[in-house]
Amino acid sequence: MPVFNFSAGPAVLPKEVLKRAADEMLDWHGSGMSVMEMSHRGPEFISIAEKAEADLRKLLSVADDYAVLFLQGGAIAENAVVPMNLLGEKKTIDFVNTGEWSKKSIKEAKKYAQVHIAASSEDRNFTYVPARETWKLSPDAAYVHICSNETIGGVEYHFTPEVGSVPLVADMSSHILSRPIDVSKYGVIYAGAQKNVGPAGLTLVIVRKDLLDRALPITPSVFHWKEQAEADSMLNTPPTYAIYIAGLVFEWLLAQGGVAAIERKNIAKAQLLYDAIDASGGFYVNPVEKKDRSRMNVPFRLRDESLDGAFLKGAQARGLLQLKGHRSVGGMRASIYNAMPVEGVQALVDWMLEFQRTHG
Ligand SMILES: *Cc1c(COP(=O)(O)O)cnc(C)c1O
Repeated sequence: MPVFNFSAGPAVLPKEVLKRAADEMLDWHGSGMSVMEMSHRGPEFISIAEKAEADLRKLLSVADDYAVLFLQGGAIAENAVVPMNLLGEKKTIDFVNTGEWSKKSIKEAKKYAQVHIAASSEDRNFTYVPARETWKLSPDAAYVHICSNETIGGVEYHFTPEVGSVPLVADMSSHILSRPIDVSKYGVIYAGAQKNVGPAGLTLVIVRKDLLDRALPITPSVFHWKEQAEADSMLNTPPTYAIYIAGLVFEWLLAQGGVAAIERKNIAKAQLLYDAIDASGGFYVNPVEKKDRSRMNVPFRLRDESLDGAFLKGAQARGLLQLKGHRSVGGMRASIYNAMPVEGVQALVDWMLEFQRTHG
């Protein structure tokens, strides 16, 4: 029986990537070594890291005036690392609060700066993205922070907000590489790898180079973007194996036709699942405003939550894994990242229909 893994993260990886990693596990390209055993300063690993960066730049059309960093600490570390690197002389950060991950970023930033909530969707339980016209930006903010895909709430920006000359910073952990983006509209993009890129332990930071001179003096060297940019992200030992796997994922994405091609598949997958939810007559409910629904993370509730256990048990028996919703919200969540084939979404929809027939 094929198994489909709907985990929000660490999450499904392309089978082809895992097979290739298995093939190369004991002997990478005739080197006689596993990638895990290589010095990060040796020619073999340097070639792996350089290829990964070049492919990521190709996938997202990252221009030369941006640094690409492969760091550690995850997106949660970036909640502290971003203010340390960007505050400079400024005192205020603007945030748009769209849910749980925004809230975490806000809480951490308060240790470093005054936080101004420029817009929030809390009034309707974080089920939408506040329209840009409603944002009240401060004139003197160090930057504007958004979470462009709320992994728990299932809310995604389907537009790039214009914020003038203030740098726009985005936590893209759960939808980076799911669609084309215009990197030039952002000051900083960051993402933990374990949703749509590779294994846990790697953090991607894409930062416009003119922003590299704003770090607070207390910034730890390993989190100091300028120092890391100058050291090719090797000021400390980088997460070498995670970088290698991410590199294989980038190659896989290029072979799929790049992010525009994967976006078309992601749109089709999301449509399939949302259509099933919307056609269920309220048996399944997704509360997010249609225009702001995430293509990557689809939370849904059963009208009768006493059926949750039976739904999950039957799903498990059909090889549909890790559908239990986040502990803070309950219900179900299907994460349908790049590596989730449409067959997996179809199998989930088939199960949803069957379950409704027998329990509706
Ligand atoms: C998963 C996630 C995080 C947390 O990432 P860590 O790697 O655990 O630090 C932060 N932001 C978003 C949007 C996420 O999806």
